[in-house]
Amino acid sequence: MATAPKEINQPAPEVLLRVENVTKIYDGTVKAVDDVSLTVNKGEIFALLGGSGCGKSTLLRMMAGFETPTKGKIHLAGQDITNLPPYQRPINMMFQSYALFPHLSVWENIAFGLKRDGMPKGQIAERVEKMLNLAQLGKFAQRKPHQLSGGQQQRVALVRSLAKRPQLLLLDEPLGALDKKLRETTQLELVNIIEEVGVTCVLVTHDQEEAMTMASRIAVMSEGYFLQVGEPDTVYEMPNSRKVADFIGNVNIFDGVIEEDEADHVTVRCPECVHYVGHGVSGHTGMEVGVALRPEKIMLSDKKPKGEYNWCQGEVIEIVYFGAHTTYHLKLDSGKVIKAQELNNTRDLSCGLTWGDRAYAHWNDLAMVVLAQ
Ligand code: ADP
Ligand code: MG
Repeated sequence: MATAPKEINQPAPEVLLRVENVTKIYDGTVKAVDDVSLTVNKGEIFALLGGSGCGKSTLLRMMAGFETPTKGKIHLAGQDITNLPPYQRPINMMFQSYALFPHLSVWENIAFGLKRDGMPKGQIAERVEKMLNLAQLGKFAQRKPHQLSGGQQQRVALVRSLAKRPQLLLLDEPLGALDKKLRETTQLELVNIIEEVGVTCVLVTHDQEEAMTMASRIAVMSEGYFLQVGEPDTVYEMPNSRKVADFIGNVNIFDGVIEEDEADHVTVRCPECVHYVGHGVSGHTGMEVGVALRPEKIMLSDKKPKGEYNWCQGEVIEIVYFGAHTTYHLKLDSGKVIKAQELNNTRDLSCGLTWGDRAYAHWNDLAMVVLAQ
């Protein structure tokens, strides 16, 4: 995650891209993007995250100029580009199927757009060399795409789209074609290249881990609009709604009613337990809320916790081993099933709990988020 330290004298970030109240309606009926506004700062990697069909690609394609907004404006570096054709924008887009030219070498693939623009030969050679170094592909310059691994092809595609030095780079599901392990290493390689070039980037993905590891800020999208925009740790630890909490990572949500509403704490009564939240929330006594609690914030034990708050008990009905951690599914007496994740930080795998055991789940008073909607 590329989060800059917050310094007091940090200069105000320079806005590169400004999207203002943009709506896109296809065929007069399909509202793909619904009144979206956002700003992307220079040098930022900004992710549009959401499930299939929520409008991510449509929004990106409007930034690129392949679609025209039905309503709203798009500005780049202060210039209104809403109606500018794609080739007149200092923007490059890398598509999901990033198809390299199969009959051209890596070198020629990178040079292709520069040649088409009529750049002088010497300058092209210099630029291509730079890009090859950046992608650490110097020794593969003369290979054809099919002689490269998937991750290497991805890096060629990326530096090819950076070769013209666009001000804004748009990536639509850039790693969709790669398997999980390769995605993880390629994510970091792409971020390194993007940061080294210093290009501003908007990235579309449906993969929350990809958004979290690559982006400096994330917009969580649903049905054409933004549910929440924030830094990765903020949307993860402080989701503003059940939808966001649910979309980003795993979460248990308890339905309950605010019982005590104080400046320094609230209590929420649920059928399964009473939550004691160690800070105030915006809400009032009697209000119906959801209490979101991430599995990794729950501790399991066979001993009854002290006190009356922040614990519940149930039966272990499932144990799922993931290597680095294990997830236990606990069926509470109300019938609700919660997940608790324990780190496997020793090689002794038995935390003492097995299928069918009764267990206590407990958590501390800053572990949960109270959600009004
Ligand atoms: P995402 O990239 O998040 O999966 P899209 O932006 O591709 O979503 O699509 C958003 C919605 O707009 C979907 O309902 C999709 O069917 C519709 N849509 C996308 N492109 C077109 C198009 N060219 N014509 C009509 N409807 C479209
Ligand atoms: Mg898409």
